[in-house]
Amino acid sequence: MMQHEKMYQVLTKEIADINERIKKLDYLYIKTEKMHRLLSQHHNSTQPHYPGNSARVSRYRDPSPGGTLRINNIYFLAFTVSLIFLVSGIAFILFASSLSREETGEYIQVATGQIKFALAEHINEEFGNLRAASIISHDRELLSPDGTFTRLTKRLVANNSYIQVGIADRNGYAMWMEKGGIRRGSLAGEPFIERALQGEQVVTGTRKNAVDGIDVNYYAVPIFDEASGRISGVLFAADPEEEFRNIINHSLYAGKGLAHIIDSQGNYIVKSMSPIVIGIGDNIFDIPYPLTETDKQKLLDNLAMGQAGYFERKIYEADRLVAYSPLGINGWHVFYAVPEYMVSAGLKNVTVGGIVVISAAVLAFIFFIMLIKRVNKKNRNALETMAFIDPLTGQRNYQKFLIDAAEILKNAQDMKYAICYCDIKAFKTINDLFGRETGDRLLRYYSDFLFELTQEGEVFGRITGDIFVSLRKYQSKQEIETRFESAAHRLMVFPETFSRGYRVELFGGVYFINRNDEKLPLNDMMDRAITAEKSAKTLKNGKHLCFYTDEMREQKLWEAEVESTMEAALENNEFQVYLQPKIDIQHGNRIMGAEALVRWISPEKGLIPPGRFIGLFEKNGFITKLDRYVFDTACRNYKETVLDRGQQKYILSVNVSRLGLLQPDFISTYVFMKEQYHIPDGCIELEFTESLAFENHTLFQSIVDECRRNGFLCSLDDFGAGYSSLNILKSIQVDVLKIDGLFFKYGDNSDRGRELVKNIISMAKSLHMKTVAEGIDEEYQVEQLREMGCDAIQGYIFAKPLPMEEFNRFVELWKTPMAETKLF
Ligand code: C2E
Ligand code: MG
Ligand code: MG
Repeated sequence: MMQHEKMYQVLTKEIADINERIKKLDYLYIKTEKMHRLLSQHHNSTQPHYPGNSARVSRYRDPSPGGTLRINNIYFLAFTVSLIFLVSGIAFILFASSLSREETGEYIQVATGQIKFALAEHINEEFGNLRAASIISHDRELLSPDGTFTRLTKRLVANNSYIQVGIADRNGYAMWMEKGGIRRGSLAGEPFIERALQGEQVVTGTRKNAVDGIDVNYYAVPIFDEASGRISGVLFAADPEEEFRNIINHSLYAGKGLAHIIDSQGNYIVKSMSPIVIGIGDNIFDIPYPLTETDKQKLLDNLAMGQAGYFERKIYEADRLVAYSPLGINGWHVFYAVPEYMVSAGLKNVTVGGIVVISAAVLAFIFFIMLIKRVNKKNRNALETMAFIDPLTGQRNYQKFLIDAAEILKNAQDMKYAICYCDIKAFKTINDLFGRETGDRLLRYYSDFLFELTQEGEVFGRITGDIFVSLRKYQSKQEIETRFESAAHRLMVFPETFSRGYRVELFGGVYFINRNDEKLPLNDMMDRAITAEKSAKTLKNGKHLCFYTDEMREQKLWEAEVESTMEAALENNEFQVYLQPKIDIQHGNRIMGAEALVRWISPEKGLIPPGRFIGLFEKNGFITKLDRYVFDTACRNYKETVLDRGQQKYILSVNVSRLGLLQPDFISTYVFMKEQYHIPDGCIELEFTESLAFENHTLFQSIVDECRRNGFLCSLDDFGAGYSSLNILKSIQVDVLKIDGLFFKYGDNSDRGRELVKNIISMAKSLHMKTVAEGIDEEYQVEQLREMGCDAIQGYIFAKPLPMEEFNRFVELWKTPMAETKLF
């Protein structure tokens, strides 16, 4: 009984473990969904760091999720703002500098005006001097050396810088003072004398003075006869050109400005002394960079019309700002050119400085954005490592696997992919036997091998514990099988376990993704691979790899449906008990017993055979409830017919599932029901499947013994169907051995088969066990079995399982001469 309970506890724990696993997977999936959503908002194309696996990362192609959009938008916005700031800053500076340039132009024109004003002032002063003297000099002895001339000229020479002062009479005959001496001569025809005689105040252009070669300008004013008001002569004086030059050279910009006085043709009246213009002609148009025809014509027109003007051009050695302004005398103009760099040097500095400052600010801004981005990236990497890396293997965890696999499948194009779900057999046992550290090393060893197997465009990850999942490319099913085999082999030869004689085994389930799966969520594909893997665990052909088929899916759907309706079905009496007679072939084919077999009569689906639901009920535990229901129903019928109505006796047998057998209240419940219907001992046989008997025959035997003590007969069902060995019969004592129908299937009449059955029967006999052959549907089999000494046959040859009423009728109709023979 102790062992019995222990086994029950082990099984319950196993079931709880499985449930826990399922829950974990669901939880992981939900977590993945959440994480994916979260990270896709912060994700960019960079990949997470795989600790201790830097070489592996290179094989890992991280698909770039669309989540980068938002973060890139922020950077795009930041860069746009910077650009706008930069462009508008520069535009503003350039605008300000152009304003300033305009101002400079105006300033130069004003400066030109000032030079002009100074010149005009000087000339007018000279005229004033001469005019004042001319009034004084008015007397008859105009040209007398002792008279007015001498006084006048002496005074003019003494008070001014003139180097010649003289008077000409109306005929142009002149007398003048130079270098302290008096000279005479005719100046008739000299333009400035002629013009002055016409009443003009004249100042000439620069000319060389004949006496000492000094450049001079002549001033001439008419002398009026006081009495007649007529012009009686001309007072003239030669002023050194230096006087003009002093004025025009007093230009701005550290002497870099050039100032000339020009006539209306552009000829120099007074030319700047700057070395730049020395020796390059007598006209402002004689310059190294001539003006265009249009500009030249415009300038000439302005000069001719006595208008001021301004332009910017390269005229001498550099770009210049040029202003000209009419002097108001002789059609002369002041022509003033300032090198542009002089004017704009400061401006340029400010402009360049401004641009540099703005650019630096923008760069600093960009730098901070990059810094934020880097910190962000670092944080994200850390987050991703935490969220996506399996710390044990350094490979993807389930979440990351789902994300990457989905990405790969999105871009899969024509490539064929399969999902492979693998699980190490009894990993818990490995941990228990070899220690957790070895278990961990085994997982890393396996993971490393999976990594080696991984090709470009494939991913794998560890889901949890010993479960790995991979997305693999394939051309043929064979390819996947080979890869699985090599992984399984690699596991098997894991040195730490292999050296101690333990063979690690691997189970695998594969789902081949097909083109129509586009809308199928990855999680569902995973489910299918898991389904296949679960099937692999039930394979009896020694293989450990299973490929998903639609039937599996249908089976799953079926199971889901069954599970949701089974309880109600039991309530609604949809489960019905059929009875199949067992015929005693050694005693005239009398009815020896009947096996209660359940049928599900569903109003929607019709009759459902037990093969379609018993296995599932064994998995989900419902079988215990159902078995008790069948037992109760069959007992009630037995009481009503055999005990109450006196129908012919038979041994009623019921199936007891392995789970039911392990229930702590199993015996007490069955005894209670048996007694409730007053069924005598020895009338009920309990059929146990052989699996538990062979797994733990001590426990099994203890249960069997207890059942027998309580008046039940016990049989070993399906003998020979599983892992039975004749040997086990030595240690198990049951009343009946039910030889599995497989021995008789397909008319297997081989000598070996027959020999085997014969031996089983004789061995059972020698161990005092009755034998019942199941699934017999041929007459010759009956004869053979009879000859072999088999006690009874349960088969279609005599009757199929029948509804209880039909069975009751069958019993009544089945008359044999030896009906009263003792059963056992
Ligand atoms: P089992 O206990 O070995 O039952 C014998 C099975 O062999 C029955 O199938 C029966 O209909 C079938 N059979 C008998 N004679 C022949 C024959 O000549 N030819 C063929 N082809 N089959 C024959 P059934 O009723 O479909 O039950 C299948 C299995 O389901 C049973 O095998 C038993 O393991 C399980 N089962 C049925 N009812 C119950 C139940 O109430 N409780 C439990 N725990 N298991 C049950
Ligand atoms: Mg049975
Ligand atoms: Mg059987």
